[in-house]
Formats: sequence, C-alpha cells, structure tokens
Amino acid sequence: MGLEDIRARIAKAETEAGRDPGSVTLIAVSKVQPLDRVEAVLEQGHRCFGENRVQEAAGKWPDFRERFDGIDLHLIGPLQTNKTRQAFGLFQAIHSVDRPKLANTIARIAQEEGHCPDVFIQVNTGEEDQKAGIMPADADAFIAECRAMDLPVQGLMCIPPVDEEPALHFALLGKIAARNGLTGLSMGMSGDFEKAIALGATHVRVGSAIFGERVAPDSA
Ligand SMILES: *Cc1c(COP(=O)(O)O)cnc(C)c1O
Repeated sequence: MGLEDIRARIAKAETEAGRDPGSVTLIAVSKVQPLDRVEAVLEQGHRCFGENRVQEAAGKWPDFRERFDGIDLHLIGPLQTNKTRQAFGLFQAIHSVDRPKLANTIARIAQEEGHCPDVFIQVNTGEEDQKAGIMPADADAFIAECRAMDLPVQGLMCIPPVDEEPALHFALLGKIAARNGLTGLSMGMSGDFEKAIALGATHVRVGSAIFGERVAPDSA
C-alpha cells in the first residue's frame, strides 16, 4: 500500500517483463479521495494523476496547480461532448475517446485552441452494454478516423469486466494496438497492474492501492 510500495512493484514488474526501467507511467487515480491524501502524494513528489469526472477535477486541480509545478492530469472517465472545452483546460491526456462525435468535437476544439491533450481510444474489450468504449470490431476503423482528424492518438485504453480474467483483455488490447502501430497501452488498476505491465502496459491507473479505499461512493 502507498506510493513507494506501488513504485517498487512497478519497477519489479518492468524488470520481470524485460521492460526498460521507468517505461511505465503511474497514473495515481485520485477520484473521490480526501484532499489531504492527494496532497500527501504530491508532497512525495508524484505529479501524474487521474480523475474520472471533469467537474470533480475542476474543483480541486486548479488549486493544486498553483501550489505544485508540473502536474500531469489524465481524464480516465467518460467525457460528454459539452464538457470537452473545459477538459482541454484541465487535462494533459484524455483516455476515454470512444465515439466519432467526441473525436470530432476534440478535433474542432483543438483547431480553435491551438493545442490538444494526448488521446487514448477506449476499447470495450468485454463488449459490455453498460461500459463505454468502441467495440473491438470497430476499433481499427475508429483509430483510422481519429488519425485522419489529426488527433494525437497515443494508444488504447480498456477496463476489463470485473468477473473475467483481465489478462485476456490486456492481450486483446495489445493486439489491436500492435496491428495499428500504436505503442501506448493504458491498462491495469490496483488489482492487476503487474499483469498489465507483463502484457505491455505503458500507463497503469492505480487508485485505492496508493490512497486507500475510496471513502465516497463511486459510480464509475
Ligand atoms: C477508479 C478507476 C481506476 C482505479 O481503480 P483502483 O482499483 O482504485 O486502482 C482505474 N481506471 C479507471 C477508469 C477508474 O475509473
């Protein structure tokens, strides 16, 4: 538990997988965590965080940015198109691009603003009705569509179904990325990030194993 422990486990998983040390980015998922816990992790020198709601991020990160340099904030939850411009002002990366309408909106706002957060395309590897993400069968075409809009597509993201072996989903995501020439893989959470690293994760999203159990309910 805690930042140092997770960093050590990531380093070990990198070595065991024959990956370069430091090749995996740790996104500390701070959603619904008390501010003092987030601040403690900032004080330890960590700068890369994940939030799953635009509104919640807008409530806490502008203040932290005034006090800590170099914050790298990633949106890992669903994005409504009408919050896209606000997301541009808050996040350096969006991991949940999953439909043409959202991709179009991001491309248009990128033109207007003259910059664009990094884009990860979310794939619904478990083909679950309740989950966001492009279906695996539609992923190649959607990736091409995003590239044609000049979106800075860094890679793919998935959230495996809770009751299935995550390794199968990580492997599928890796396969879709490889055949599309994408190197970024946003996959792995508190319970399975080592498995994800073994299967090529470049970005792991770890919340409760760093900060402790979330105290407020979370509907994500
Ligand atoms: C909450 C969340 C996480 C972190 O989950 P933990 O199990 O607490 O590590 C990772 N990814 C997404 C998309 C999330 O919503």
